[in-house]
Amino acid sequence: MNLNLNTSLRAVADLAFPRCCVACGRDLLLHEKLLCTPCAADLPLTWYWQQRDNPMALRFNERIRDDAPSAFPFGHAAALLFYGAASPYRNIPQALKYRRNLRAGRFFAAMLGRLLAASPLFSDVDLVLPVPLHWSRRWWRGYNQAGVIARGVAKALPAARLDTRILRRRRRTGTQTRLQGAARAENVSGAFRLRRPGRLGDCRHILIVDDVFTTGATLAACHRALRVACGPGVRISVATLACVR
Ligand SMILES: [Zn+2]
Repeated sequence: MNLNLNTSLRAVADLAFPRCCVACGRDLLLHEKLLCTPCAADLPLTWYWQQRDNPMALRFNERIRDDAPSAFPFGHAAALLFYGAASPYRNIPQALKYRRNLRAGRFFAAMLGRLLAASPLFSDVDLVLPVPLHWSRRWWRGYNQAGVIARGVAKALPAARLDTRILRRRRRTGTQTRLQGAARAENVSGAFRLRRPGRLGDCRHILIVDDVFTTGATLAACHRALRVACGPGVRISVATLACVR
């Protein structure tokens, strides 16, 4: 389509349905996409995909340390963004989870995927698994927010395939949001199981994907379910859209 015509149509559409910045909520200018220019410029990237021993990776590995009798490779961990309670960037994962903003979810998932693909820590990932929702919650919401992110990430990683059916949430757990520390681990402990271990194939590096990383309890519970079916040579890493600072 002619560029000017396209811009004019967008201008008319903006008048009818104003587009807002996903982070701060300000009306977007014509050339802006999802984020306003100041929010895009200040995007709090973690750069964890470039640091093996980052705080998220250390926390995750501390949690999974006792998951199997034999030693297994260090699990890499990275999030795209930091967020805090008062940060406007908190609205990015929340837009996907609570406001059905799949467009924003796909956009930031693709960004995370490109960064992971360029990192030697993640470029060899050959299987991507989203943290599953319980079927009743998925039915209620209509989609799994972790699945939206996992799909975008898998698309960007050159050797990866996506599988949304291997991991299964066997019971409906209460929300993790208001729980602290040990209560979070207790809440999700044993909540996941492998449905079709045969589908793991001969993968060497699995990436479990979720929307946010707080204490790592949910991802560690997924790790526990997977580790029983994976040999000691298989690396299991994690990636999320956001991570609590
Ligand atoms: Zn903004």
